[in-house]
Amino acid sequence: MTVFFIKGIVSQPVYVHVHNGKVEILPAEDLWGKDTIDTEDTLIQRHGTRARVACIGPAGENLVRYAGISNHHGRMAGRSGLGAVMGSKKLKALVLEGKNKVEIHDRATIQYWSKATSKLMPRGKSSIPGWVLLLMGRIMNLLPINIRIDGLMSLPPFGEWGTNSTNELSVVSGDAPVRNWRGNPAMYPTKNVGVNRISTYQRKKYHCTACPLGCGSVMEISGRYKETHRAEYETVTAFGSNLLNQDLDSIFDMNEYCNRMGLDSISTGSVIGFAMDCYEQGLLPENLTAGLLLEWGNQETISKLVEMITYRQGLGDLLAEGVYRAAKVLGDQAQKYAIHSGGQELPMHDPRMDPVYGVIYLADPTPGRHTITNTMEYEMFNLWTRVSWAPKPAPQYPKREKYENSQENAAKNAAGAMYKAILDCAGLCLFGAHIGVDRSGIFEMLNAATGLELTPDEYMRTGQRVQDLRQWFNIRHGVEPDQVVINALVRGQPPAVKGPARGLSYDLDGMRRKYWQAMGWNEMDGHPLEQPGLWI
Ligand code: SF4
Repeated sequence: MTVFFIKGIVSQPVYVHVHNGKVEILPAEDLWGKDTIDTEDTLIQRHGTRARVACIGPAGENLVRYAGISNHHGRMAGRSGLGAVMGSKKLKALVLEGKNKVEIHDRATIQYWSKATSKLMPRGKSSIPGWVLLLMGRIMNLLPINIRIDGLMSLPPFGEWGTNSTNELSVVSGDAPVRNWRGNPAMYPTKNVGVNRISTYQRKKYHCTACPLGCGSVMEISGRYKETHRAEYETVTAFGSNLLNQDLDSIFDMNEYCNRMGLDSISTGSVIGFAMDCYEQGLLPENLTAGLLLEWGNQETISKLVEMITYRQGLGDLLAEGVYRAAKVLGDQAQKYAIHSGGQELPMHDPRMDPVYGVIYLADPTPGRHTITNTMEYEMFNLWTRVSWAPKPAPQYPKREKYENSQENAAKNAAGAMYKAILDCAGLCLFGAHIGVDRSGIFEMLNAATGLELTPDEYMRTGQRVQDLRQWFNIRHGVEPDQVVINALVRGQPPAVKGPARGLSYDLDGMRRKYWQAMGWNEMDGHPLEQPGLWI
């Protein structure tokens, strides 16, 4: 594996080209201003089809704080503003080429597990119709119990529709935010954004390299796009229910535009929701709105704002700073509408329905992450089958147990976070991991790849050390974990009066303390301690 450290800032735009280990820094003035897809096409034309490109678009160049890094024609490493970091260095792209083979210690074992997991992947169309997922969302909402779901069950709809399989289910179950998190499902009929409608545009499936599942999709929309990536759940929700926007064409347009400009669609949809709330409350000065009608669901305004954010024009310049900084400029009253943790706009999963999201949004070294762990994924991972201390949830249990500030819940959250750190380091996909550690052979494959002979418990300790390092990195740069603030609304303060989150709140500060303890960190300030955590 090669790791790049890019230090310093150049005065004129450049890109870095790496060819069989030889590194060169090349001028990129001609690429500056191009969108991500044009940039990738130009660089591939220049360096050949074996080259792989990671690049930024105009949003990264203009230092929008939530600009991302794109590869594969708009697949975005969207969160946390890494595109703005590249833009600040005037680094337009990384172009990688190489013919060296990856050495593997024990190829046969890797091949065995690769075949075994491939056999579990769904073939052909899902036998579950889209409306069943909607029904499931409604039932989940009504049931007083939580049912542990086998990850294999998630694969057929996921293989066919990807993250869109939960579009409707998430709205009706209360997982998806509606109207900048202050609405409820009754305000947003989901028919227009359902999987059945979206899948009519699907032209071919999109697989990341070597993935047998292929959760992505390339769409063709007659007269508009010959080829565009299907908008993922987060994008459909950020620009859909979150803004009360029911127009699927407008959501597809925003998806394509964010991909081309290099914007994180979660944060972009979120800042527009924030602006619409502030507009409604009379908190946006007229000189900033300049005649724009920031009404819920107004597609023209949404599209204009995304462009203004990209190029930092007028109100877009303020919104390009993200909700936390924008609210500071607009005054105390605007804070209420800035839904963030530690300055990062929150993803499209409501912690009032699953408080594990709340703990992770607040306590992970990168706040506001939805891809670390949650109740359902922890239960799919089956960690307890391989890790000696990972708690095994009952097949079904009262929903209120999820909200308890117990050591068992803290241990599940810590185990989920450590395991995700292992997946990330191994370059594995979270979705494929849904089949569970007992079926994926991840620990066996890691040993086979490296020649190490570590036990699952030892790998979990590695995951813990990764989390330690991430935490120490923040502390070294002056970010104290106990100073991270999350919007009170997602704690259930004040409690929602309508919808699935009605009356739900939980002791998030207490849960964070127990989580830190289980991670082996000081429960009060979140600093990693010398000794391992409670559960190792
Ligand atoms: S690797 Fe993951 S994200 Fe990529 S296509 Fe496969 S399941 Fe989807």
